[in-house]
Amino acid sequence: MPKFYTMSRPVRVRFAPSPTGPLHMGGVRTALFNYLFAKQNQGSFVLRIEDTDQNRYVANAENYIIDSLNWSGIPYDEGPGKDQGFGPYRQSERKHIYKQYADRLVDEGKAYYAFDTAEKLEFHRKDHLEKGKTFIYNWHNREKLVNSLSLSEVEVKKRIENGEKYVIRFKTPTDLNLELQDLIRGKIVIDTNTLDDKILFKSDGMPTYHLANVVDDHLMEISHVIRGEEWLPSLALHVLLYKAFKWETPEFAHLPLILKPTGKGKLSKRDGDKLGFPVFPLAYTNEKTGEVSRGYREDGYFPEAFVNMLAFLGWNPGTEQEIFSLEDLIQAFDIKKVGKSGSKFDVEKTNWFQHQYLVNTDSKILAATFMPELENHLGKGHGFDQDYVARAIELIKERATFVKDFWELGDYFFKAPESYDTKAAKKGWKEDTDALMHELIDILSELEDFTSKNIEDHVKNWITSNEIGFGKVMQPFRLSLVGALKGPHLFDICEMIGREETIARIQTATEKLPVE
Ligand code: GLU
Repeated sequence: MPKFYTMSRPVRVRFAPSPTGPLHMGGVRTALFNYLFAKQNQGSFVLRIEDTDQNRYVANAENYIIDSLNWSGIPYDEGPGKDQGFGPYRQSERKHIYKQYADRLVDEGKAYYAFDTAEKLEFHRKDHLEKGKTFIYNWHNREKLVNSLSLSEVEVKKRIENGEKYVIRFKTPTDLNLELQDLIRGKIVIDTNTLDDKILFKSDGMPTYHLANVVDDHLMEISHVIRGEEWLPSLALHVLLYKAFKWETPEFAHLPLILKPTGKGKLSKRDGDKLGFPVFPLAYTNEKTGEVSRGYREDGYFPEAFVNMLAFLGWNPGTEQEIFSLEDLIQAFDIKKVGKSGSKFDVEKTNWFQHQYLVNTDSKILAATFMPELENHLGKGHGFDQDYVARAIELIKERATFVKDFWELGDYFFKAPESYDTKAAKKGWKEDTDALMHELIDILSELEDFTSKNIEDHVKNWITSNEIGFGKVMQPFRLSLVGALKGPHLFDICEMIGREETIARIQTATEKLPVE
């Protein structure tokens, strides 16, 4: 159901990552919430690459981001390679745009040139620290520092003409109780006297994040900014910039943090390494160090399960329903129902989602995915067709989380056991077992119809009418076919592997067991 907010303009949202490395799963969740919001409001989901910080730029990060969105099933409508008239979508290709906006604010007296050297600022910082204070560049000291507010016009001109380095700072308005609105957090009031005069334009000719972000959101006609909580402290500045430019302010929603499983602090890659789960959508190789980080895709999670799990980190529908397809999420998601407080990442819950998607996936589809792995184990030309593999999977998938679990759970569908569980063999293979197993072979040989139900009826009938005891037959029987006391309904296994193989396995077991 579309959310009927009063929209004054078409919904356009953006995901604006900085390409500094692999995209954290928190970033994917931000993208997802943007995607859902766009889709439920017939809007556009824009990808903008915020690569103004050349020091932190990582070459393969942009592709990684795009691949991650595609794998998650939430591709962008507009962005690099998909220009819809608002491009370019990489800030490095928009460099020429930003200076004029900084200049405009200077001309209007809303920003100023500042010539303070890095050393001088560092000195102030240290000096304040020693006195137990914090140095803030703003209304209370800006007239005493080296900038176009304290210097004469002639002096400023001279410095600029001499090629002296300068930055452009925002002249934060004073004595204002700024009322901010956040779709998740409601009203937030900020006293502008507590803010500093942030740098908008750097001495290297590049805009800062704040300027580029606001200018681009305006030029790209972004209607709603949905981003991580870490940007909440920048909200006042951004809103003040919109006001300074006299631009329409987008609506804002700041998403809660994703917390460590212990609930203390932000979920980090280190937590994943320690506890054995991925924090990135795709595996990632750091080109400098060669370090490889695991990914949800490579670990065997389905994108649908990953996305379903992510949606529940911060949002829930307020009902018992937990399984949501992307389509369901588009219908049910409500940005106003996103919680304010951080949500704890839960590995078990993540695996539960994966398990649910696995058991609800048609076994034929799972079989197609499993075929290459089966070939790895058995070699080419193993002779098992997809239909047989699908039937085997149908019998074991209830116990599996990942496709890769199928081998461990059901290798006996494809090969005879090479060894037997020692404990089970000792306990279950008694003196009279060989004889019982030979009797069993006789019964199985004579069956006309080698189907699960028929085998079961006959074997059970034999056991009861001879008062043998189920355990005495069934345990060694299972041990012979599977090699351990595990697996699904034994007679289903018989039917699957067929009469000849069933008998051969029992025969082999009688020769090998018990182990002395
Ligand atoms: N480039 C910022 C980031 O890396 C974007 C923040 C925003 O969405 O405004 O998260």
